[in-house]
Amino acid sequence: MTSKLKYLAATLVASALLSQPVLAQSSIAIAIHGGAGTISPQSMTSAQKLRYEAKLKQATDMGYNILAKGGSSIEAISAAVNVLEDSPLFNAGIGAVYTYDGAHELDASIMDGKTLNAGAVTGVKHIQNPINLARLVMTHSVHVMLSGEGAEEFALQQGMPLVANSTFDTERRYQSLLKAKQKLHDIKAKSKSGADYQANYVNWDNSYKMGTVGAVAVDKQGNIAAATSTGGMTAKRYGRIGDSPIIGAGTWADNDSCAVSATGHGEYFIRFNVASDICARVKYQGKDIQKASDEVIFGEMKQAGGTGGVIVVDAKGNVAMSFNTQGMYRAFRKQGQQAQVAIFK
Ligand code: ASP
Repeated sequence: MTSKLKYLAATLVASALLSQPVLAQSSIAIAIHGGAGTISPQSMTSAQKLRYEAKLKQATDMGYNILAKGGSSIEAISAAVNVLEDSPLFNAGIGAVYTYDGAHELDASIMDGKTLNAGAVTGVKHIQNPINLARLVMTHSVHVMLSGEGAEEFALQQGMPLVANSTFDTERRYQSLLKAKQKLHDIKAKSKSGADYQANYVNWDNSYKMGTVGAVAVDKQGNIAAATSTGGMTAKRYGRIGDSPIIGAGTWADNDSCAVSATGHGEYFIRFNVASDICARVKYQGKDIQKASDEVIFGEMKQAGGTGGVIVVDAKGNVAMSFNTQGMYRAFRKQGQQAQVAIFK
């Protein structure tokens, strides 16, 4: 080939490459929480604080690295939640709180903002990582929410092993159960009707139920997703289900608005449909995610007595966090930045 022809060929290849559509990449981001409640600098030793911070950072970095390598937001949040479920520090997976009867009943949900597909499990007793089962419900079943034994039968069909309920036992959560039962006993003794309504939970020390975990993320494709996993509330009874596995209450994701994972007193988050209310304000009122979150967390729900918080991302890589409690275990990491971890206000 003459040098003129070589030049012509090289120019043709270069212009063909240049005319390839360049796919726009979104700014990646991930945010996680490990529960909200009465958390103050006085309520923990500096060694405990360091342990929480290290685990929150580990979970955030785990999710971020998946996003940085081009992984999906669903993969990133699942991996981040798994780190927290596997730690006894949090009320999810290992470390889940006890029911009134001294067992553990776990709830989890996940939602994909691109497709609006969702999966949830409630009241499972033998699933080590409930978020993985919620994800299988989303991707491998025609249903959205499976409960109890049925959910576990589905897990077996999917090749997921069952574990003993005692896998989730921890001394710290057992002590919380004893305290909670004493408190319930006192409330019942004082109440004229003799009832121990769950509404009385509102008078409880938040530390009895703190530690639900969640993650939200946006990937390079601009797809967002949300996941939440919990043991629920200490001394819960009668098959009680909180907001965490309820799509719209504890978890929500829609590429057109935002992805939310909530933590707090579930009964209120269900009644005020917290996660989807935040995203509806973004979608229909054009609000930014911080304003929409603050309106819901500090609005009607708080006035009614609801306590807790949320983590939020949108498809542009913005992150918002809002909580009306003393503290919320939380962390986030945005494109090109290091993880930022915080516990107190
Ligand atoms: N929202 C959870 C529930 O009510 C508890 C929590 O987030 O601390 O089950």
